[in-house]
Amino acid sequence: MAGFTTVEQPAAGGSGTAHGIAGGLAWRPMERWGADLYGDPCRDCGFAWPRDPGAAVRRVEELPARFSDLLAGRDGRERHPELAWNPAGYVSHVTDNLRAWAERLAGARLAGAVAVTGYDQDLLARARRYNDIAPAAALWSLEGAVHAWARCVPAAIEEQVVLRHDTRGPQRAEDVARNNAHDGVHHLWDVRRILAHTDGHPRP
Ligand SMILES: [Zn+2]
Repeated sequence: MAGFTTVEQPAAGGSGTAHGIAGGLAWRPMERWGADLYGDPCRDCGFAWPRDPGAAVRRVEELPARFSDLLAGRDGRERHPELAWNPAGYVSHVTDNLRAWAERLAGARLAGAVAVTGYDQDLLARARRYNDIAPAAALWSLEGAVHAWARCVPAAIEEQVVLRHDTRGPQRAEDVARNNAHDGVHHLWDVRRILAHTDGHPRP
């Protein structure tokens, strides 16, 4: 998860070595991910991992409206002392995460490129200066990312695309959809926490 808790790069020395899969003659450490990492339902945000891939797709498609509703009448730059990003920053992370995974699945569909790696979400956040992005622009970008995602991921699910992640192992397109849905819902929860904190500590 993002901003201190991470989906793409779990904390160093942390959750990455709980189990392995056979790789030739050797067992190599694997990164825990998905429901295995967060719990089902997620211990933090309560997300129940959908069995039906179509339900995961719908959860992603709902994200722009849900973030937009949550931020209606808000500044979008509120802060929580325990979280690295403001609400607009979380929206931008969800946007980039959807773009990254849709792109990976597009690579598999269009070019047979199934070998994928993680990406450094915190480096990306710094490069794009998430906390400085205008909240309305962040929401606009999310809408575009979900539109592009929806043009690729359901088709990849239908075609039963399977990515080969370098630390997670095989990742079906439907698993990607579930993970992406969880990422969005988890960060809705983060934004609610930020806003609740702000409500309790109004600016002078
Ligand atoms: Zn969660």
